[in-house]
Amino acid sequence: MTVPDNLVDEWVGRNLLATDPALLAALRAQAPQAVEPLTRYGAELGSAETAQLARDANRSGPVLRQLDARGRRIDAVDFHPSWHALLAMYRRQGLVADVFATDTPGRWAAFAAGCYLHGQVEAGSLCPATMTQAAIPVLQKQPELFAPLRARFFSREHDPRDLPLADKASIWVGMGMTEKQGGSDLRRVQTTAVEQADGSYLVTGHKWFFSAPTSDAHLVLARTEAGPTCFWLPRHTPDGARNAMQVMRLKDKLGNRSNASSEVEFHGAFAQRLGDEGRGIPTLIEMAGYTRLNCVIGSAALLRAGFVQALHNARERSAFGRLLAEQPLMQTVLADLALESEAAMRLMLRLARGFENAEPAWQRLMTPAAKLWVCKRAIECGGEAMELLGGNGYVEDGVLARLYREAPVNSIWEGSGNVMALDVLRAVAREPDVALALLDEFAASPDAPVRAEARSLRQLLTGAPAALEAQARRVAQGLVLCAQAALMREQSSTIAADAFVATRFGGDGRLLGAQAVPRAAQILDAALAS
Ligand SMILES: Cc1cc2nc3c(=O)[nH]c(=O)nc-3n(C[C@H](O)[C@H](O)[C@H](O)COP(=O)(O)OP(=O)(O)OC[C@H]3O[C@@H](n4cnc5c(N)ncnc54)[C@H](O)[C@@H]3O)c2cc1C
Repeated sequence: MTVPDNLVDEWVGRNLLATDPALLAALRAQAPQAVEPLTRYGAELGSAETAQLARDANRSGPVLRQLDARGRRIDAVDFHPSWHALLAMYRRQGLVADVFATDTPGRWAAFAAGCYLHGQVEAGSLCPATMTQAAIPVLQKQPELFAPLRARFFSREHDPRDLPLADKASIWVGMGMTEKQGGSDLRRVQTTAVEQADGSYLVTGHKWFFSAPTSDAHLVLARTEAGPTCFWLPRHTPDGARNAMQVMRLKDKLGNRSNASSEVEFHGAFAQRLGDEGRGIPTLIEMAGYTRLNCVIGSAALLRAGFVQALHNARERSAFGRLLAEQPLMQTVLADLALESEAAMRLMLRLARGFENAEPAWQRLMTPAAKLWVCKRAIECGGEAMELLGGNGYVEDGVLARLYREAPVNSIWEGSGNVMALDVLRAVAREPDVALALLDEFAASPDAPVRAEARSLRQLLTGAPAALEAQARRVAQGLVLCAQAALMREQSSTIAADAFVATRFGGDGRLLGAQAVPRAAQILDAALAS
């Protein structure tokens, strides 16, 4: 049989940074020192070899081995070698801890860009990396605990060995909060911790979701008499024995299949207190601020990865006698995806700058709003990108199905959508001046729809508080759209900024591509360099 023409291979073997003109320009402006190393990383990530690693890590996911050959409890998790290769790549790039190792300006933008590039190829490995990174600022507040771990956090060498902390070159850290009775409302935590004569604690209870269970340690929430408290719970006790934590089961997940997520029980596990008794929730919420940023980055990465495959396919595949990319309706849908992807990337970099400069408006207010919005947009846009490849998008031979299955988790963990929206209101209530100052900035926009949205948000936020909770998503959405419009206007082409403003503030935007995108072809030309 002759092979038909019109077959388009997946977009692979390209440099992920060099082909992304918007990101490259943003990096040159915000973190010029990162352009060269990330260009190299972009090439490594974009290679066919790395694509194969990602495929293998997700196809041959982790397997729990509770007992050894003679029945001794070992709670080991076996990973495909590709998983360790991916973690090693990320770590070698300094993406786990460099933001806390130096005070180089632009380090957070550099990190966000590196994480974004990695997330376009493999998302599961971002989970342990994110939790490890977010543990650092919490531990830094307890110097006696952090000092012996410092070099192991900052190491660029991946050390997969299952050894006590002192014997490791580098470490991974997870976090355990969610129990069977609820993960959003952590005040209901039932796991208990009892102080011992030497000041350590013994933890008893369970966690219903516990990712990266074989990490070298976890930050765990457990109840003392004073209330929920945060603990450092290592995999091995100081005398080198395996800690009294049992992995009961690995979760059989929709996506995120390269990464192990588990259910665990603690049977008097050794732990050290982090922060004051009864102050565990604020401690873990501080950590969650960082992990939420990474959810935004991870979802922006999924948006870009899906869009790039869809655009590449449309540029090379024909239907009805013309390339798909030349057909007006396809251009509208693709341009809509291009705008969503670029706006998510610009927002992620702005949040990263907010973390670098400790700006409450971006760290406390806009991060939960962005987590709600970008993570949800990645779900919808992932489905659309898949569909733009037709049937080939739906089968597991290609990457689109994996991207689609991956997308919802960023919206669920680290605080689900409603919890994020309520967190936005909490940030407004705590620092109303910060929120109103940001709205003033948006109200000075050259774009009339942005000004109108800013006015409407101000009315909502200064109106009757009782009515506000039910409209929390409305507030978060409005804040994000204003922020994205402002960033596009400030940093993107006039064509893209005009199109973003024209398509994001009307009432017709519920279906991707339902609203005409002005100058769609030019937007697409600029979105992906060959
Ligand atoms: C793959 C995966 C890995 C995970 N890994 C970890 C981990 O390593 N460590 C860890 O601690 N957790 C982990 N989680 C758990 C995750 O953080 C929780 O599932 C999440 O926080 C929600 O908690 P829950 O599942 O108990 O849902 P619930 O708390 O029961 O919430 C259910 C729904 O109610 C909504 N809701 C809650 N309160 C309100 C309100 N006041 N108003 C309106 N709506 C509300 C929530 O947004 C959510 O949609 C993981 C989850 C997944 C899926």
